[in-house]
Amino acid sequence: MGPDRLSIQAFLDDLEASFRQASQRGEVASYIPELATVDPGYFGISVCLPDGSVLSAGDTQKPFSIQSISKVFSLAIALGREGDRLWKRVGREPSNFAFNSVVELEMEQGRPRNPFVNAGAIVTTDAILSGRTPKETLAELLLFVRAACGDDEVYINQRVAEAENRTGHRNYALAHFLKSCSNLNSPCDRVLGTYFHQCAIEMSCQQLAAAGRFLAGFHPDFDMIGEPHVRSINALMMTAGHYDGSGEFAYSVGIPAKSGVGGGILAVVPRRASIAVWSPGLNRYGNSHLGTLALEKLSRFTGWSLFEVARV
Ligand code: GLU
Repeated sequence: MGPDRLSIQAFLDDLEASFRQASQRGEVASYIPELATVDPGYFGISVCLPDGSVLSAGDTQKPFSIQSISKVFSLAIALGREGDRLWKRVGREPSNFAFNSVVELEMEQGRPRNPFVNAGAIVTTDAILSGRTPKETLAELLLFVRAACGDDEVYINQRVAEAENRTGHRNYALAHFLKSCSNLNSPCDRVLGTYFHQCAIEMSCQQLAAAGRFLAGFHPDFDMIGEPHVRSINALMMTAGHYDGSGEFAYSVGIPAKSGVGGGILAVVPRRASIAVWSPGLNRYGNSHLGTLALEKLSRFTGWSLFEVARV
């Protein structure tokens, strides 16, 4: 048995108080102009439990750019729609290179290593675009996210999307390379326009923790994609959710999780908790520095690591 709700709340409060003072906070993402100006002092953590209660500490109501965490939602829709056909176009292996690597894509002959590196997410977005306009695709995505978190107040930040469209040359390089390998159906600018808007969704920690319930297996009325796909997504979050830092994250935290360069992390403890943490400063892999540390401490305190044997 793990700690009860009151002791988890006390733990989160202490964590937040000590992280407020932290001097090492990592670096905010500067390659997306709108993200470069975010105050690195923010810190928030929310834990959603199976009984529906949400324990929170810090800046948990302020929406932030979820960036790559959105790849979890687009993957859920793509799997729901395409099923295993998606794996013809995208792999399921961890990556050895950075999240936006062009070299790795070339080495894999245009089949991205997994749906969470940028190239793989661009293919996934292309899959959900099929037969729809970008507007319809984004509406479907927002509908999914709002239903998942049970809150209609989730929006796309247009300025962030436009800034990334202006400066996202690497993602354009990836898209054009995918196209040259016939692994993109829609035109590059159409896919990337949709992808950048998807990444520019903003959510608070409280909303994100609630949204993760469908992956943790205790969403009250959400059976949109079915258990086998949930299991696949959790497995991919474990092996690839932190890019080439995923091994280190599994070692120190031991929970399936997906990070974004906005500094958020969504972490899922099957049947026990859905957790969202946000601190904008990033480590060298592009994952939240304090967010990762917070999850490491929380998983040790609660025994929620999937590899925990002491307290079963
Ligand atoms: N929109 C970001 C990009 O494509 C997402 C990367 C991330 O959050 O890791 O570069």
